[in-house]
Formats: sequence, structure tokens, C-alpha cells
Amino acid sequence: MRQKTIAGNWKMYKTIPEAGQLITELKKKVASVDNVHIIVCPPSLAVPEVVRMVQGSNIAVGAQNLHWEREGAFTGELSAQMIKSAGAEYVIIGHSERRQYFGETDRSVNLKIKAALAEGLRPIVCVGETLEQRENNQTEKIVKEQIQGAFEEISEKEFSPIIIAYEPVWAIGTGKTATPDQAQEVHTFIRALIAELYSHKTAEQTIIQYGGSVKPENAADLMRQADIDGALVGGACLNAGSFAAIITSAEKQAD
Ligand code: PEP
Repeated sequence: MRQKTIAGNWKMYKTIPEAGQLITELKKKVASVDNVHIIVCPPSLAVPEVVRMVQGSNIAVGAQNLHWEREGAFTGELSAQMIKSAGAEYVIIGHSERRQYFGETDRSVNLKIKAALAEGLRPIVCVGETLEQRENNQTEKIVKEQIQGAFEEISEKEFSPIIIAYEPVWAIGTGKTATPDQAQEVHTFIRALIAELYSHKTAEQTIIQYGGSVKPENAADLMRQADIDGALVGGACLNAGSFAAIITSAEKQAD
């Protein structure tokens, strides 16, 4: 049985005091949730403070990016070891904003996944097509290339902690959400790909989140789909009330 997993990607929002305020409110609102896995991914500077604040709660912490080298002359970068030592357990890899604005490629995604796994961090690996690719009927081709590139030379055993987030680029931060059917279709495709790459058993165990303008209003319909195991939430996770409402939708589907 796959546990519904809701992660919040704070992107470049929230100072350290603002992060503290959001976590204080969120902790209260989700304190009784015990069947949904909750992850928050604040900006790296706020990770230690958020880790301290969520200790003993049902909230886990992730970072939003990492460098694949262990250490070195890479100004401005953070290694898996540094993220781990700050207390984070997860790391988002290959988010479309990083692919689009910072030159992330399937090759760098692969290196980052390997670095995260070597340090015991659980990667949340993002894949998804642009609007143009969808309109040209290339969604499956693009997602397949991204998945094959991301998991190259990663064994079935190494793969097991990985979470995949299907995030159609045209739905991120745009207010346009994939319909539950559209999302389910791609999730089924991704699960079949994982079965091909590894095994049916691993595919059945893999958490595949949907991301792209998930809001309290659309979360329940998405979460109800058989292959949607949760959400990677951007904008709506910056407010404790709306993030908690999405978590509650997942909780209801998990019963
Ligand atoms: C995201 O940043 O991964 C995301 C899905 O953003 P939003 O929910 O704002 O579309």
C-alpha cells in the first residue's frame, strides 16, 4: 500500500522568521494527521531552523536542490552531505524551474540523484512536458527520456527510496491544472516505465506525486486517482491553511 505523500516546495519564498511562523501554524493544523506523509522543502538557509521546529512532529524536511560533488570549489552550491548534516531527509531534483532557468539536464539530474542516494537522502525527482510538447503529442516521449536519463545506472535496490513527481510544466504556477484523467494517464505511463526499468513490484511501490497548481479546490479529485499518490505543491504550500487543506484531502482518500 502506497502512503499518500504531500510535499511543499517553498521555492525562493520565506525568510527564516517567516519560515518559523509558517511551521508554527502548519504544525497545529496537521497535528492529528497520521496516514499522510508530510514533507516541507524550505529554502536551504531555513532548513536547520525548520528541522529543529518539526522535531517530534509528523512533518519531514527536504531541500530544493543539491550539487553532485561531495565538496570543492563550487561557489554557492550545497552538497548532499551538507544537506544531510542540516537534518533534511529529502531533496527535490530536476524541478522544471531548475531545468528551465539553471540549465539542469537529465545528465545532471542523474548525477544529483546518485549523490543524494549515496548520502541517504530521498530524492523527489521531477519530470514533465512543456505545453508545446503536449500539443505536439510528445508527452510520453519526453517523460520517458527524462525517466530513462534520471535513473541511468541506478539499480533496483538503489531506486527504492525515490519519489517521482509528475509536473507538467504548463501547469506549474499558472493556475492551469491537468485534469485528474490527464494526470492519471501519465502516472499510469510512468508506473509502466518503472516496471519496465525495474520490476512490477517496484513499480507498484513507487510513490508518484502530481504537481502543477494543486489547490484545496482540486486536490481531492486528483488524489482520488488510482496512480496519484500525493502532490508536490508550490504556491498553495506557502499558506498553512491551504497546505493543510490539501493534506486533509489526501488524508480522506487514504482512509
Ligand atoms: C511546484 O513548484 O512544484 C509546483 C507544482 O508549483 P505550483 O503548485 O505553484 O504550480
